[in-house]
Formats: sequence, structure tokens, C-alpha cells
Amino acid sequence: MKIGVDLDNVVVPLYEEMIRLVKEKYGIECKKEDWKKYRMCDSFGITEEQLEQLYKEMCLDDTLLKIKPIKGAVETINKYSNDFEFYFITARYELAKKKTLEWFRNSGLIYKEENIFFDSEKAGLANKFGIKYFIDDNIDVVLNMAKYGIVCLLYNQPWNKELLEDGVMIKRVYSWKDIDENFKNILNKK
Ligand SMILES: [Mg+2]
Repeated sequence: MKIGVDLDNVVVPLYEEMIRLVKEKYGIECKKEDWKKYRMCDSFGITEEQLEQLYKEMCLDDTLLKIKPIKGAVETINKYSNDFEFYFITARYELAKKKTLEWFRNSGLIYKEENIFFDSEKAGLANKFGIKYFIDDNIDVVLNMAKYGIVCLLYNQPWNKELLEDGVMIKRVYSWKDIDENFKNILNKK
């Protein structure tokens, strides 16, 4: 069974760094609970260009390397590494590849480098690989996955609150403990 996992704000709490950097670089105070739309520029007074600039800098400096995984992510993925084949599909730019792979090497995760992909067309790719379940925090990604019949665990974040779970194709999860429960159920169903 193949399971797809998004990186940012599912495994890596990138939002923490984004909030810090936007304050530091542009003097704009952002609170996570006010982050109601997926793209930061749609939630706060930051321009598309400023955001783009920030992303590009982050891809190359050491910001990405320093971020510690979200609680339970490494433990849960490793616990099921013999039961499932995990694919990590991120919409990060190719520019971030070197730093991202370095982060993986230091993460403690059990993973295969050939199963890490940098692609914003996640659903098509997931479908091509035969992925059955996908974990993501982006509403658009989740809805696209559903079109291919891929069940999604929607990782709860303030920017995805408006998407209603149906409990079948889309299930909202609040932590990696919840994901662990779902993995257990998937195994029991096999
Ligand atoms: Mg994400």
C-alpha cells in the first residue's frame, strides 16, 4: 500500500519560520490563527513579490535545515515503514531540493530518496504511482486527489477550516496521533 505525504505544515512546521521571517524582513505581524487562506499573501498584508522573494531565499539559505519535524511525524512514519511505502510529494521549488534532501538525511525518518518528489501537480503524480492515501493541508490538493479516488487525510490548519470532511474521501486529522489511528484502520481493512 502506497501512502503519499506532503512535507510543509504536515511534517515540517514551515509556518513557524514564515511567520518569523515575515516579521523580521517586512515588519508584518502574522498570527497563525488569522492565517485563513492557504497563500500567506491572501491572509496578510504581504505582496506576492515579497512572498516569492522569501521563498527563494529560504530555498537556498539554512532556514529549511533548522526546522524540527511536527510532533509524532517521524515516529509514526517510521513505525509503519514496513507496512506502507511512503512517498513524499512537496510543492517546494526544485531550488529547495538540495536543502530538503539534507533535511531528510538529518530527520531520523526512514525514507527512500527515490520516493521524494518536487511537484505542484501532486494529484496526477500520486495517481500515476498508485498512491491510495494522501496527507496534505492544502484544500486544492485534497480536492484534486478526491477526483482520482485518492483518500485524503486533511491535516488541520487554520487555512483549511472551510473544507468540510465527508469522513470517506476526506478525513480531517489534528495530529500525527490521529494519523496513527488512521494507519491502524487501513491495516485492519487490508
Ligand atoms: Mg503543505
